[in-house]
Amino acid sequence: MTLGTHGAVGAAVVVGSGLHPVLGLSLAFLSHFALDALPHYDYKILSLDKTAEKNGVVKMLRGKLFVIDLMRIGLDGLLGLIFALLIWQMAGDTGSIYLALGGAGLGMLPDFLQFLYGKIGTGPLAIIQWVHNRFHTRYKLVDKFELGVLTQAVLVVLVFILLAMK
Ligand SMILES: [Zn+2]
Repeated sequence: MTLGTHGAVGAAVVVGSGLHPVLGLSLAFLSHFALDALPHYDYKILSLDKTAEKNGVVKMLRGKLFVIDLMRIGLDGLLGLIFALLIWQMAGDTGSIYLALGGAGLGMLPDFLQFLYGKIGTGPLAIIQWVHNRFHTRYKLVDKFELGVLTQAVLVVLVFILLAMK
């Protein structure tokens, strides 16, 4: 899923659940794999090394496409943090901005770790990459941009509605 969606759900899990912060933050991290298990749309990473991708490794090649990817991923991640700030605002006095941003960050983290794994490729990163690949759905909404955006927008709106009902 997109980083924005992962960020919103991660922040909501921590801020909205009322769980102990350690448990909430752990669940925010794990929420990434649960969301990725749902059929969804992902935008293409244009600078991906196709050969490495066949082996389950996310490796980006430097160049013009890499810069475009960095801008898109950066904006997507920023959206996740903006959702976290909105969720923190909704929580009123009971919410911590650090927990909201931490939840969003941990919700998005596995996707960043994929790139780190592409660079380093060993140790705990290999385990996380295996888990990421294992849980990720095989049913991708390829070339269905509108449906992909709509379903993730509905999911984010649902998160906000659930928080508002608390
Ligand atoms: Zn992912």
